[in-house]
Amino acid sequence: MRKDRRYYHVVDKFELIEVVGVQRVRRKRDLGIMAVIDNFTNIIIDIHVAIRHKGETKTHKKIKEHYSNIPMSNVKNYIANCDRCMEKSTKKYERRCCAAYFSFIPERARASGPSRPSKFT
Ligand SMILES: [Zn+2]
Repeated sequence: MRKDRRYYHVVDKFELIEVVGVQRVRRKRDLGIMAVIDNFTNIIIDIHVAIRHKGETKTHKKIKEHYSNIPMSNVKNYIANCDRCMEKSTKKYERRCCAAYFSFIPERARASGPSRPSKFT
């Protein structure tokens, strides 16, 4: 390997460590392991599922405890397409809509049932 400025920059900022017999690159600043780009999605899925489909910020925070280089945009992209989270947010939205609908109808109309139009009561 050519030992130019770039080499010394990398040696200064990163170090090689061994994790369960596998060599990994660790950033010295926050001691986070550098993930290989190909593994980003797997890492995000594992952690997102492990913390029971929590939001973007909590998932990213948990990832940052272990890895240094997984950007928030990747986490956002994954969670935006997560089936379970989509299902959860749809249910929440439906519940909110029902609550708004019932608070809009006056008390008398609600008692007589939804078949009668509320503006004549
Ligand atoms: Zn999810």
